Amino acid sequence: MIHPENSEEYKGLTVNKGIEQPSTINPYRSFKRKAKRPLPSANEYVEGILKGNITLLSQAVTLIESTLPEHQAIAQEVIEKCLPHSGRSIRIGISGVPGAGKSTSIDSFGMHVLERGGKLAVLAIDPSSERSKGSILGDKTRMEKLSVHPDSFIRPSPSAGSLGGVARKTRETIILCEAAGFDKIFVETVGVGQSETAVHSMVDFFLLIQLAGTGDELQGIKRGIMEMADGIVINKADGNNIEKAKLAAAHFRNALHLFPAPESGWTPRVLTYSGFYGLGIKEIWDMVYEYMDFVKANGYFQYRRNEQAKYWMYESINEQLRNSFYQNPEIAAMLPMKEKEVLGGSLTSFTAAHQLLDKYFNS
Ligand code: GDP
Repeated sequence: MIHPENSEEYKGLTVNKGIEQPSTINPYRSFKRKAKRPLPSANEYVEGILKGNITLLSQAVTLIESTLPEHQAIAQEVIEKCLPHSGRSIRIGISGVPGAGKSTSIDSFGMHVLERGGKLAVLAIDPSSERSKGSILGDKTRMEKLSVHPDSFIRPSPSAGSLGGVARKTRETIILCEAAGFDKIFVETVGVGQSETAVHSMVDFFLLIQLAGTGDELQGIKRGIMEMADGIVINKADGNNIEKAKLAAAHFRNALHLFPAPESGWTPRVLTYSGFYGLGIKEIWDMVYEYMDFVKANGYFQYRRNEQAKYWMYESINEQLRNSFYQNPEIAAMLPMKEKEVLGGSLTSFTAAHQLLDKYFNS
């Protein structure tokens, strides 16, 4: 008897022709590359922005932040056209070290401001964002109430380029936001030094958030930053921290007396508050409005804005010259060699710089 597996009828080891599998590629799909939707024209952006269209505003801000020359060209045209519609807002710089409570406070301040009507844009300048590739300032998730308010616009810090470049982009964003009807602008920054100067150069009121410490709160804070402040506010004055906050406020008041009187003629105030519990927020905003009345009456408001416009003209010149220099192919080729010579001691830094600049301007 033959084994069933050896019988001719046995099919167990033969492979049946299977069902033909359909191609995994859809034969009806056209592989012609879809043409990218063209960007709106500068005029379309401007029209949308003036109507308060947030999508177009956001897209235009993205163009400001882009490094592509064609994006920059449209962005500059949009800014130019929005400029006559800008300027009618209160611009407030808000600074404090990480953990001081900036986002919690901006959430409370912002909601308080919006209760009185108007629209609020929250922008940021974060000098560290280039390194960390992504800014934490102006992050929507940190401003829970404000981020879902229909009259707020929150935009994190632009992250590419030098501090000057980042600051310029934020300043240009202010112009677009104002043209879109935002009448209050907050510019948030971390209290580390240079970025305050940049923020100070684009706001009307500079608010410094501080915390009560162990009696030596003045130690860590740079004199220059304090001198810039139009108001110093001590946060977290709640629970059993109230007395400490009051003590810190007294320290700051004493320290401010030692500074020369500010150009504005305004005497900077020191207040305590709690961003988390919403205590003392009204008093801070009353102070801002009082300041605005004061500087508008004595002419300092317009003077400061003019000075800022002048500052930004020079900043733009500097930035463009610097970019043009470093993007010059001959310079880019020469730089590593010159750097080596300087490091090797065969050339001084000054001579190397001189040779490079000479090449740039005379070739
Ligand atoms: P930022 O880094 O300056 O933006 O600070 P955050 O707003 O993220 O706040 C840092 C921490 O301080 C968070 O845990 C907040 O909940 C807390 N905080 C902020 N404001 C207050 C306040 O007014 N009182 C108290 N007790 N805690 C606060």
